[in-house]
Amino acid sequence: MSTTEQRVAVVTGAARGIGAATAVRLAAEGRAVAVLDLDEAACADTVKKITEAGGTALAVGCDVSDSAQVEAAVERIAAELGAPTVLVNNAGVLRDNLLFKMSESDWDTVMNVHLKGAFLMARACQKHMVDAKFGRIVSLSSSSALGNRGQLNYASVKAGLQGFTKTLAKELGKFGITANAVAPGFIVTDMTAATAERIGMGFEEFQTAMAGQIPVQRVGLPEDVANAIAFFASDDAGFVSGQVMYVAGGPLN
Ligand code: NAP
Repeated sequence: MSTTEQRVAVVTGAARGIGAATAVRLAAEGRAVAVLDLDEAACADTVKKITEAGGTALAVGCDVSDSAQVEAAVERIAAELGAPTVLVNNAGVLRDNLLFKMSESDWDTVMNVHLKGAFLMARACQKHMVDAKFGRIVSLSSSSALGNRGQLNYASVKAGLQGFTKTLAKELGKFGITANAVAPGFIVTDMTAATAERIGMGFEEFQTAMAGQIPVQRVGLPEDVANAIAFFASDDAGFVSGQVMYVAGGPLN
C-alpha cells in the first residue's frame, strides 16, 4: 500500500488488543501514531514496540467520552506529531447483561465510550483533515451489530457506528475524507477473555468452542483486524467509502 507522505494517525484504545496491533501496523507503514488510551502510562508498551522498530509514536492519555479531554488530546497530537489525518475509533468497553438486568449506567457507559467517543474524536480531527484535503476515519463496529443476546447496549452502538460511518462518508467525501467500518467477529483479546470469565468458561475452552462455529475454523487475532483497518486507512483506498467490512472468518447472516 503506498503512502505518499508521512501521515499522522490516531488510534483510540491503543494500549492493548486490536488498537495496539493497529497502532503497530500503521506505524510500520510509515505513519507517526498517537497511541491514545484512558491511561497514558498504559500506552507505554505499544509506544515501545513502535519506537524499537524505528517508528514514531506518542502516548496520549484521554477519555474519548469527555469532550474537553478529546479537544486537548487532538490539539496536543497536532502540535507534537502533526495534523491527524487518519483516525481509528477503536476504544471500547463491554457492559453485557440481559435487558431486565441492564442498568442505566451499563447503557450510558457503552453509549458514551463507543458512540459519543467516536463522534467527539471525528469532530475534533475533521478540521485537520479538511485543511489537508485528506482523511481516513475507520470505526470499529462488530458482528454484534446484527444482534447478540446479552448485548443490547453494545449491539446498538455497533449498529449505530455503521450509520455514523455511512453519514460521515456522505458529508466528508468532498474534502477527500473517507469513512469506513471494520466489524470483527471473535478476536482473542482481553475483551473476549472477560466475556469467557463472565459466562464461566475457561478462555481456551471458549476459543475452541467459538472456532468450531467459524468457517475458517479458527478464532481471529488482533492483527487480522489491523490488516483490514490498514487497507481502509491507506491512500490506495480513496475510492472506498461508507463500507462495512466484516472480519469474522466467514460470512454472517
Ligand atoms: P480491549 O482489549 O478491551 O481494549 C480496549 C481498549 O479501549 C482498552 O485499552 C481500554 O482501556 C480502552 N478504552 C476503554 N474506554 C476508553 C475510553 N473512554 N477512552 C479511551 N480508551 C478507552 O478491546 P478489543 O477487544 O481490542 O476491542 C477493540 C475494539 O474492537 C472495541 O471497539 C470492540 O468493541 C471492538 N470489537 C472487538 C471484538 C473482539 O472480539 N475482541 C469483536 C468485535 C469488535 P482500559 O484498559 O483502561 O479500559
